[in-house]
Amino acid sequence: MGHDQVQLGIPGVRGEGQPAFDAHRPPSKELIDDCVHCGFCLTTCPTYNLWGEEMDSPRGRIHLMQAGLEGSPLTDSMVGHFDACLGCMACVTACPSGVQYDRLIEQTRAQVERRHDRTPKEKALRAAIFSLFPYPKRLRLLRGPLRLAQKVGADRALAKTGLLERISPELASMQSLAPQLGKAEKVPERTPAIGERRAVVGMLTGCVQREFFPGVNAATARVLAAEGCEVIAPARQGCCGALSTHVGREEEGQRFARALIDTFSEAAVDYVVVNSAGCGSSMKEYVHLLSDDPAYADRAREFSSRVRDFAEIIAELGPVAPRHPINAVAAYHDACHLGHAQGIRNQPRELLRAIPGLEVREIPDAEICCGSAGVYNILNPEPAKELGDRKAANIASTGAELLITANPGCLMQVANSLERAGKSIGMAHTAVVLDASIRGVPLEA
Ligand code: SF4
Ligand code: SF4
Repeated sequence: MGHDQVQLGIPGVRGEGQPAFDAHRPPSKELIDDCVHCGFCLTTCPTYNLWGEEMDSPRGRIHLMQAGLEGSPLTDSMVGHFDACLGCMACVTACPSGVQYDRLIEQTRAQVERRHDRTPKEKALRAAIFSLFPYPKRLRLLRGPLRLAQKVGADRALAKTGLLERISPELASMQSLAPQLGKAEKVPERTPAIGERRAVVGMLTGCVQREFFPGVNAATARVLAAEGCEVIAPARQGCCGALSTHVGREEEGQRFARALIDTFSEAAVDYVVVNSAGCGSSMKEYVHLLSDDPAYADRAREFSSRVRDFAEIIAELGPVAPRHPINAVAAYHDACHLGHAQGIRNQPRELLRAIPGLEVREIPDAEICCGSAGVYNILNPEPAKELGDRKAANIASTGAELLITANPGCLMQVANSLERAGKSIGMAHTAVVLDASIRGVPLEA
């Protein structure tokens, strides 16, 4: 049966009694068979850590995928275990057998989104999230009212009443995560290299990053230029599709991916640089996302091979811009989609440790997710909050006055968790710290 032929109208499962998965990209049996059930991944899995349930561990979820392939129906309970996974990929790092859980959960999630009949409340929340976050122009419309509410303290007053929490914990979570908005800053379409030009790089400006953290994008472009890159940031670029792809909205993610490939092909750049871990990891996976598309499969492979994280490209080119001191004690937080998904851990640390005066400390249990995970903290506020609280305590234990990370989602989640814990620690993206050091200006954290 093709994936567009599933039966409709039965609560819980579309086509009750039908096998869990259809023939369109089910979780790969070959990848499932790589798992030898050793359990080395268990202690690193945040949901196993929280609940101690086998079916909320990587091994348990792989077992459920196997059961689905063998004909078990897609029950509500099975979907609950898949939904609870953060997609943090800590299990990929921990697995000695090289199980590609990232591919497995992505294939499974697309099946769940097509075949599982969600409740009206779940559908409405997902519709709201995905008609807003991947669209920078719509996010921009929110900026004005949100900034005003923050200025007059209306957002805090609303949070104090607990009203939103009672109506919808998911909406309350969304509200509490909104960062303090500063002034809008636009990255020029072309920023010339300073000194000898060493590369022409395209820059993804993103959606949440562009509208909620414009200072991070501006800092990224300045650092790249200072390191000898001509930076091209096409104004008409859209979402990379990471949020959609990570929750299983496969066709939507593919649509965004094709459009972004077209945009950067026209820009004729050597690399496409990304300062958001989740977006970069997703763009490096276009090769899999579009592998069945005859018009884009080869282009996606070529595109993915040019994608570089911000810290990765600077380390690759070799930093040349002189650094000024920043006298501070910082802790570096690995975003899961940078550390686990892209294996980028040393590059940001080395770049930061090369700044005179900056001490960079390690966070205990660094491999465990902070609970952000794309839109996980909106869809699953309770476990996200608990993971955020644990992360905040670990960060505070370092004694750092500054927390540095490279993902807008982590910045919002950790800031919110630290505030809940009553800890006052400055937060900054890696690019903002490097920019302040190169320009010799005070760090705005
Ligand atoms: S996913 Fe890897 S670490 Fe986890 S049980 Fe399977 S083989 Fe072991
Ligand atoms: S991706 Fe993260 S939450 Fe999901 S099974 Fe792996 S370690 Fe657990």
